Amino acid sequence: MFLFKNLFPKPLSVPLTVTSNNGFHLRPVAQFATLARSFPCQITATFSNKRVDAKGVNTLLSLSLEKGDTFTLVAKGKKAEEALEKLQLLFETLMQDDKEIKKIEKTAYSYEGFVIEGEIISEGIAIAPTYTYHTKEVQHRSEMDFSTALAKSIEELETLYRNKEEDENAAIYLAQKELLISLGTHCQTLTELEEKVEEESRKLVGTKLDAKTSDYQDILQRVKKQLGLEIKVTFPDTPFILLCNDLLPSEIDQLQQTNVSGVILKETSMNSHTAILLRASGICSLIADTQNLVEDETVILDTHSGVIVQDPSSHDLQKARERLSKESVQKALSAKKRFEPAITQKGRHIKVFANAADINTAKTAKEEGAEGIGLLRSEFLFKDVKPSLEKQQKAYKEIFELFDDITVRTLDVGGDKALPYIQIPAEDNPFLGVRGVRLFHTHPELLEEQLHAIFLAAENKRVKIMFPMISSVEEFIQTKSFAQSVAKKYQLDISHLHFGIMIEVPSVLFLMDSFNDVVDFYSIGTNDLTQYLFAIERTHPLLKADALSPALFSAIEIILDKANKPVSICGELAANKNAIPKLLNLGMETLSVSPKSIAQTKEEIRYV
Ligand code: PEP
Ligand code: MG
Repeated sequence: MFLFKNLFPKPLSVPLTVTSNNGFHLRPVAQFATLARSFPCQITATFSNKRVDAKGVNTLLSLSLEKGDTFTLVAKGKKAEEALEKLQLLFETLMQDDKEIKKIEKTAYSYEGFVIEGEIISEGIAIAPTYTYHTKEVQHRSEMDFSTALAKSIEELETLYRNKEEDENAAIYLAQKELLISLGTHCQTLTELEEKVEEESRKLVGTKLDAKTSDYQDILQRVKKQLGLEIKVTFPDTPFILLCNDLLPSEIDQLQQTNVSGVILKETSMNSHTAILLRASGICSLIADTQNLVEDETVILDTHSGVIVQDPSSHDLQKARERLSKESVQKALSAKKRFEPAITQKGRHIKVFANAADINTAKTAKEEGAEGIGLLRSEFLFKDVKPSLEKQQKAYKEIFELFDDITVRTLDVGGDKALPYIQIPAEDNPFLGVRGVRLFHTHPELLEEQLHAIFLAAENKRVKIMFPMISSVEEFIQTKSFAQSVAKKYQLDISHLHFGIMIEVPSVLFLMDSFNDVVDFYSIGTNDLTQYLFAIERTHPLLKADALSPALFSAIEIILDKANKPVSICGELAANKNAIPKLLNLGMETLSVSPKSIAQTKEEIRYV
């Protein structure tokens, strides 16, 4: 009897009701399917007599679940009970956290020109000629086969997701990755993938998920690019207001580098990933019917009132220009304040540094008012191919020239961070495995080259070199002597450089007295310190450690009490407005935060 029960386990089921106003859409579906895939049992979802695989993003999306819909989740086989329990918990959390994107209230307007009304994506004023979106397909040589292109594209999206972890929109990349896995799995050729994308997009037409078709196109473009087929978009050199049906989410980054003054989209929705990213970019944008607009005509785009003014009168133009210049003055004022030091009410100057990943983020950090770089995450400098020594040296030099105070962290690969050219054998617990400084043992040649490049770039600069994931004093001493031997081998003087550690592993807390004798500085990495203190993986979909737990503050207090060398903090906690007063009261003098958080962090400090 017992044997039969195990051979033919009964399916278990649970009803789940969609409570979010947005429905069960791509981003939460992606997180749900990722967790479902981690279980060995078969998991299906049934709604309205339709039963689909719950491990696939596109299959789940095909149920078109909206607010109020109840579907049944059924699990059968090994770990079925655990799977249902965890998926139910995740689903409830996803529903609770999925905030509705509120419509922006329109302000009244009075224009003399012809007015076209629309829906506001992002507020602002723009006056510029219109420009219609053009694309051109360019064919490059590529030897890559379809399955490698697919794998590379999935990997690219995974890296984008990981790199943007600090960004609230990172889930968009996870969603696209899951979508690509789900659509690409059964395709052997590009044509098959194109057909699949076409078929799936057709199913979305007219549904609430219509706007997700741009995600389908985006992932297809990514694979095509690997195969040498690139869609090139051209933009004018002078200011313009972009007119287009829709944009791909991945095009927003590129758009930000242009002279764009505003964007008018015809076929998107407030919840589309394109709209979310446009809002985050701050580009003034509107959803409106553009069929009456012609190329190269000057219009006013007023997204406070949600209108386009065609044929504006001179009075309209004058009014809009005055408003535009008032807005620019306001922006300039807050920008100016970013460059002012952050002084507390009691007159303490707290340094606000930036966490940077490459020259672009370092430049943004400079523009945002950073006083230095507290953490250069060097693993993100070269994401695709292993760089040459010269390339590395050039990249470091460019960044080092921007600030007087720079801390560069040696490669922190492993755990959740992967580089395609560094192979780390599969591990059961990668967060407890070969990562960070432990790579010095497994990949000494890589680290030698990196240190050599940093030393060359820091020839005349007192750069701080930081080792990640240090857990014992011996490990630091060994790593530093490795660095010294590299300098000796290439006959380089590194006496002006400082060597320090990230405090991420709790063992360091108990060894502070000995560390004080050997290190030049400390930087607390609260992201990892929290995961190791609470034994909760930082990327775990269900478990979340309390970011403001007293245990974490006690750990920081111990470090600050014991340290006799400068201590800074570079984890996410440094930008948390509820944590800042506590950190300053404990004696923290330097906070290193993401470039976008600099102005706000400085402002928070000024109130303490
Ligand atoms: C940290 O662990 O807090 C940290 C800043 O490093 P990373 O997030 O890059 O692991
Ligand atoms: Mg870390």
